[in-house]
Amino acid sequence: MISIVIPIFNEEKNVRPLFERLKAVFDKQSIKWELIFVDDGSQDGSVMEISGLAKKNKNVKAVFFSRNFGKEVALSAGCRYARGEAVITMDGDLQHPPELIPEILEKWRNGGEVVYTVRKENQGAGALKKLTSGIYWWLFGKISTLDSEPHSTDFRLMDRRVVDEINRFSERGRIFRGIVDWTGFKREKMEFSAEQRRNEKAGYSYKKLFHLGVNSLTAFSLLPLKVAGFLGVLITSVSSLLFIVMIIVRWFIEPKFFSSLSFVVVINTVLIGIVLSCLGMIALYIARIHDEVTGRPLYIVRKKINIDE
Ligand code: UDP
Ligand code: MG
Repeated sequence: MISIVIPIFNEEKNVRPLFERLKAVFDKQSIKWELIFVDDGSQDGSVMEISGLAKKNKNVKAVFFSRNFGKEVALSAGCRYARGEAVITMDGDLQHPPELIPEILEKWRNGGEVVYTVRKENQGAGALKKLTSGIYWWLFGKISTLDSEPHSTDFRLMDRRVVDEINRFSERGRIFRGIVDWTGFKREKMEFSAEQRRNEKAGYSYKKLFHLGVNSLTAFSLLPLKVAGFLGVLITSVSSLLFIVMIIVRWFIEPKFFSSLSFVVVINTVLIGIVLSCLGMIALYIARIHDEVTGRPLYIVRKKINIDE
């Protein structure tokens, strides 16, 4: 059996078409499958749509969160309830075409423990989204300890072994793509062109995306922490050296009008700036530690349909 896990946040118009397209694919292949919708606190009619489908189809299962916990957490929850020999995660906005699934399954049967997909071009994305994602991946490639493929998506197959490992993770500020790559299972790549997002605007605001970006960079790289300290030391020593040289030079030129006050002010501002930015950098990591230490559950489930523990 194959499990499909789909996080849903306000996708009322997409739930049914997605199911129909998946059904068509699996009917043709005559493979047993289950579909797990994880509703991430949708405010629109998604809950109704999902419930309707789940009541009519035994293989459609649903988990409803009590509020919005984020896509990464929804994916994790879906993986915990999935029972298939392989789990395929995909977006609920039809940007990940179900018609690619046979090809993905083929790569899995040929030994891929993780089959990940990379988008060739992102037709739906605007210029700003393209720019920010470009910057993100550039930075990620430069500083992360992971060798993730740029522009890889959450349209991905994981073998049962991989899912079992992922389910053991208790990490909170989790980036799903990150932890999958971290496990080190054998990866197979597949390219596809992302379709235009269907219906409504993207569920992710730039604020959320920024948080995601910062989280994934701090989760898999200590470099920002080190850079902060290094920068601080470097600039402090350079600026104080410069300061001493300037005082001496000025003293030679105009011994009478010696005033170091202006220098003191300038140097002070520079140093305070450095100290504050280093503190900010460290705070990012402390925030993560705080998040982990509180040990709250990852998510709260309000209701489940067709799911037996
Ligand atoms: N999503 C979610 N929780 C959120 C935001 C998004 O479960 O807080 C879901 C959304 O319904 C969709 C998937 O995550 O199925 C990807 O979202 P979106 O299309 O907005 O992201 P993008 O394609 O821009 O990466
Ligand atoms: Mg999308």
